[in-house]
Amino acid sequence: MKYYSTNKNTSEVSLKEAVIKGLAADKGLFMPEQINKFEPSFFDTIQNLSFQEIAFAVAEKFFGTDIPSEKLKEIVFDTLSFDCPVVKVTDSIFSLELFHGPTLAFKDVGARFMARLLNYFLGETGKQVNVLVATSGDTGSAVANGFLGVKGIHVYVLYPKNKVSKIQESQFTTLGNNITALEIDGTFDDCQRLVKSAFLDKELNEELLLTSANSINVARFLPQAFYYFNAYARLKERGILNNKELIISVPSGNLGNITAGLFAAEMGLPVKQFIAANNANDVLFNYLQTGKYNPKPSVETIANAMDVGDPSNFVRILDLYHHSHNTISEKIKGFKYSDSEIRKVVKQVYSETGYLCDPHGACGFEALNQTLAKNQVGLFLETAHPAKFTETVGEIVGATNVPLPEKLAEFMKGKKISRELNRDFSEFKRFLRTI
Ligand SMILES: *Cc1c(COP(=O)(O)O)cnc(C)c1O
Repeated sequence: MKYYSTNKNTSEVSLKEAVIKGLAADKGLFMPEQINKFEPSFFDTIQNLSFQEIAFAVAEKFFGTDIPSEKLKEIVFDTLSFDCPVVKVTDSIFSLELFHGPTLAFKDVGARFMARLLNYFLGETGKQVNVLVATSGDTGSAVANGFLGVKGIHVYVLYPKNKVSKIQESQFTTLGNNITALEIDGTFDDCQRLVKSAFLDKELNEELLLTSANSINVARFLPQAFYYFNAYARLKERGILNNKELIISVPSGNLGNITAGLFAAEMGLPVKQFIAANNANDVLFNYLQTGKYNPKPSVETIANAMDVGDPSNFVRILDLYHHSHNTISEKIKGFKYSDSEIRKVVKQVYSETGYLCDPHGACGFEALNQTLAKNQVGLFLETAHPAKFTETVGEIVGATNVPLPEKLAEFMKGKKISRELNRDFSEFKRFLRTI
């Protein structure tokens, strides 16, 4: 399958090139030239398939012409070494728990898939690749752990100083090996800008093979479609969807996760409506209301993985729906929540149902709670384990109610090693030229 740029000012490339380059030469994001649909009958019996089997069927629709079937199966099965279960929260609202992977957030799925795919493509060339990744918290840990020890790849994680939680930080600053943490004196948007500038810098790209592992990379965001299909199967298996419409609510920042869901729907997954739940960073929310897209600097919130002022995957949504605001605002409903609203939701859901949401998932839950009709079932993506935000969540429901999972405690024991840099591209470039 070929991949084109959303800017349409450069020629189409192969999957291999799209994965290694990350960003298209004209600064656009890569899109698959076609979205292969499932037959409607696939959904009649989907509940008989396991998560891995469903994921492999989805992967074949995207990557089947580029990777031998057996190899693709190995990559998919190896990526999904953990489950993404659907858990009942209320009679009509279910949580899709995406936090059972190594770093307890949904980004493990895309990061693990991308590491394995890149390793497969590099196996052919024998080249050394440098992965640059900007993170507002969870991407860095997922990518660092997904790529840890993978031969021929070195990962540079750029993160905003003092703006990620201690637990998040420990997951990419304590690994060593082929992982280097860069602590940037700036915001997440600064980190993202530095990474984008590096990809577009001619000199750097002549000297180094650079690639991105942000959700702009097709190998990161497309595999996120896997768990939407699986969630549908698991709900159907339990008879929950009988004559009901499915509404899926996605806590949204850079919009990679929801874009993968929209792709799943284009492939035939029966979803009535998507919800993009924002925190105070409401650029998408405003676009959905007004048709005007006005990026602005991000503001800090307690759902910090969604503190994004100019979501990179927005252009993919525009492209997918041919820039029609009408279509986009039909497919996606927007909601936004302030920090105090998020706190209230975490507290209330916990006291009424016993279910502990993290601050991101809480936005997803509350949007369903406010909008769900009688004949509808709501599924929200619980994008991270609440203990990843133990400072905030502990304060809301009491620290003793937020035990630290073993996996996280292990990271906290490691020694932090990071390199501090300011937010100027010239300094970042100087650093890269010394590696
Ligand atoms: C990254 C992240 C998000 C936002 O996902 P996008 O794909 O960037 O929209 C939401 N919640 C958590 C916990 C995250 O780590």
